[in-house]
Amino acid sequence: MTVVPDIMLNNGNAIPQFGFGVFQIEPDDTFDAVTTALQAGYRHIDTAEMYGNERQVGDAIAKSGVDRGEVFVTSKLSNACHRPDDARRAFDATLEAIGSDYIDLFLIHWPLPTRYDGDYVSTWGTLEEFYRDGRARSVGVSNFQPRHLRRLHTDGEIPPAVNQIEVHPYFTQDGVRAFCGEHQITVEAWSPLAQGRVLGDPTIDEIARRTGKTPAQVVLRWHIERGDIVFPKSVTPQRIRENIGIFDFELSGEDVEAIAALNRDERTGPDPDKFDFVPS
Ligand code: NAD
Repeated sequence: MTVVPDIMLNNGNAIPQFGFGVFQIEPDDTFDAVTTALQAGYRHIDTAEMYGNERQVGDAIAKSGVDRGEVFVTSKLSNACHRPDDARRAFDATLEAIGSDYIDLFLIHWPLPTRYDGDYVSTWGTLEEFYRDGRARSVGVSNFQPRHLRRLHTDGEIPPAVNQIEVHPYFTQDGVRAFCGEHQITVEAWSPLAQGRVLGDPTIDEIARRTGKTPAQVVLRWHIERGDIVFPKSVTPQRIRENIGIFDFELSGEDVEAIAALNRDERTGPDPDKFDFVPS
């Protein structure tokens, strides 16, 4: 069985550095994909209320034969539920869907600075309640820029354990990653493969040929060497198994730098300062 390293969060809790993401996996496909991932050795699943598949994630864990306590589960607050009472109801619904009386990590999915009068601080206060009552073992944020994190630092009481942001070789996020590092906030890199867009890159191909690994494995290993947490998504069993096969090799410092030098400041997803999607 592959041994995935743990990272220690700023509250002393451990999180597996590598996991499985279920964004854009249809609810009907989620049970099988998560089952395959658990069989392949994944012990960390990243879902969200807005993905519509929390229930299928919970079902797959419950039927896997793996103890709930051995699987690290993350979910995220819907953009529709930032007001504190809505957030409390949404969190109850997330726990019910996952079929557990706690979650390992709960995040504000997007800061939505142009919505709710720009008040993500009250929303954060609600996540602090979930942390204090023990139903969220860790709490954090996603898509927060340094200016958003500074407000939580000033007006909040508990520092976010993680900031989950878009990071990949074409969008290395040096500024946000450095800020998080200085403030003991662990970075989780979403779309670590840029949804597949970086996989044809000649620099990555060359390193893959030289190391005898696939381009996806090289990119995922690059994230691991940089210290970020990753959870690539796939519904293809062979790729699910391929993606976890990154703990039997290392990249040289030169290779890590060569991949970082591919940065183009090119997002695949929305800009958190402008993103204002609220589901109806
Ligand atoms: P990803 O970078 O993980 O790319 C997934 C795609 O890459 C797959 O659909 C497939 O086309 C391709 N792929 C995967 N493995 C491959 C392999 N071995 N060989 C070739 N191609 C392969 O993209 P993602 O799903 O957007 O991101 C991963 C996870 O990050 C999500 O599932 C979700 O959990 C999280 N995420 C969070 C946010 C957020 O706002 N917090 C946004 C996007 C994603």
